[in-house]
Amino acid sequence: MLREDYEAVMGLEVHAELSTKTTIFCACPTNFGASPNTQTCPICMAMPGTLPVLNEKVVEYAVKAGLATGCDISRDSKNDRKNYFYPDLPKSYQISQYDKPLCEHGKIEIETSEGKKTIGITRIHIEEDAGKLNHDEFGGGSLVDLNRAGVPLIEIVSEPDLRSTEEVELYLKKLKSVLEYIEVSDCKMQEGSFRADVNVSVRKKGDSKLGTRTEMKNMNSFRSITRAIEYEIDRQIDVIENGGKIEQETLRWDEVSGKTFSMRDKEDAQDYRYFPDPDLVAIKLSEEYIENIKKTLPELPESRKQRYLEEYKLSEKDANIITSSKYLSDLFEGAIEVCNNPKAVNNWIISDISRILNETETEPIEIPFDSNQLGKLVILIDKGTISSSIGKKVLEELFENPRDPEEIIKEKGWIQISDEGEIKEIVLKILEENPQSIADYKAGKDRALGFLVGQAMKQTKGKANPQMLNKMFLEELKK
Ligand code: ADP
Ligand code: MG
Repeated sequence: MLREDYEAVMGLEVHAELSTKTTIFCACPTNFGASPNTQTCPICMAMPGTLPVLNEKVVEYAVKAGLATGCDISRDSKNDRKNYFYPDLPKSYQISQYDKPLCEHGKIEIETSEGKKTIGITRIHIEEDAGKLNHDEFGGGSLVDLNRAGVPLIEIVSEPDLRSTEEVELYLKKLKSVLEYIEVSDCKMQEGSFRADVNVSVRKKGDSKLGTRTEMKNMNSFRSITRAIEYEIDRQIDVIENGGKIEQETLRWDEVSGKTFSMRDKEDAQDYRYFPDPDLVAIKLSEEYIENIKKTLPELPESRKQRYLEEYKLSEKDANIITSSKYLSDLFEGAIEVCNNPKAVNNWIISDISRILNETETEPIEIPFDSNQLGKLVILIDKGTISSSIGKKVLEELFENPRDPEEIIKEKGWIQISDEGEIKEIVLKILEENPQSIADYKAGKDRALGFLVGQAMKQTKGKANPQMLNKMFLEELKK
């Protein structure tokens, strides 16, 4: 059979670390990057005799995530023990949720190149993160850091509704942006705050039964997810085409070789011996509690997008890019408040800011300057204090060392030359240096004017006012 006769099926389990101040069952801080084992206590280190107490904020954040993704919220939920042994899990069980998750039956809408599509969310449950093993590169063994043990997570399980890497990426981006908007997770992928277990299977087109899936755990970059899925689809088709059978197993994606490797046979639920955690009480939520959380939901990306289309007349494409991230969207709205020029702010975000983010592999949340500084940059250009090419240099400065744009241009001497006398001096000098261009212009080659303006901009390092240059060159050339 041909490759085109196969269809790929993906389902994702996304783990997002919640941005609560303290852990899920004790009161340790959740800050990322602290020295190993400095944010631990007897509870998260699983000392005998300690008891967990559920952090209410975790329930609130999970319910918020459920409401924002159209889930039904369970009034009657509980915590279960998922038993397995691993050195980063000192209790030898993880407190999670099994048959009564907090949220179920939700959905996320994505816009693919072939139109809108709804991806089902099976469930969202709460659980604790495990610690972290640091493997000594010199072969001296592994060291455990329990700072992360007990950091609250929500796990968002999708239906196997995804059919391509494009859909997977769109789904992840949409989900990430929703979680950012409702401010339950910072979703920093490099810090592991937003990571996905990717399940992949293939089947013959037209088959109604799903193929056997493999699972790649803890993926935290869009690029590796795409590469890993593509590799895994090809591998599975090859196995089937060669008369083999896909084993249900957990795989490890290796970024360097660009291949997947078998880690272990896939466990089934029964392997975990789930049972209700006897140390914790049931989670019973009142209507009023859920209603109150509903009231705190902010405007979500879809509605912001509609507003941008109508209020600011953005193109669909630009509105999609800006609202894809809460941080970009806040930056956009904040800067408009300062400079009242939506079109210019839109352009900065879509072109130069997006380009720099891409080139430096930076996420919007890490943009070091604020909306006030971006707004002021736009004002400086609008007032003619600097040219737009100097504006680009100011933007680069804002990324390097953010401060008031006005200060930057003073300090760097980037203020635009708009003094008639000074402009005239430059024009005369450039004309004297380029007699050929004068001759060309007089012979009807209009392009010569552009060349002269370009030379003047070059000599003044972009500081001369381009409109004034144009006008004065013309005056001189016509003499
Ligand atoms: P487990 O924790 O055992 O991995 P879950 O039910 O929590 O099981 O998650 C299973 C994930 O795998 C879901 O996201 C689901 O959509 C996806 N999935 C299930 N069957 C398939 C399949 N045949 N092909 C691709 N994905 C699948
Ligand atoms: Mg899984």
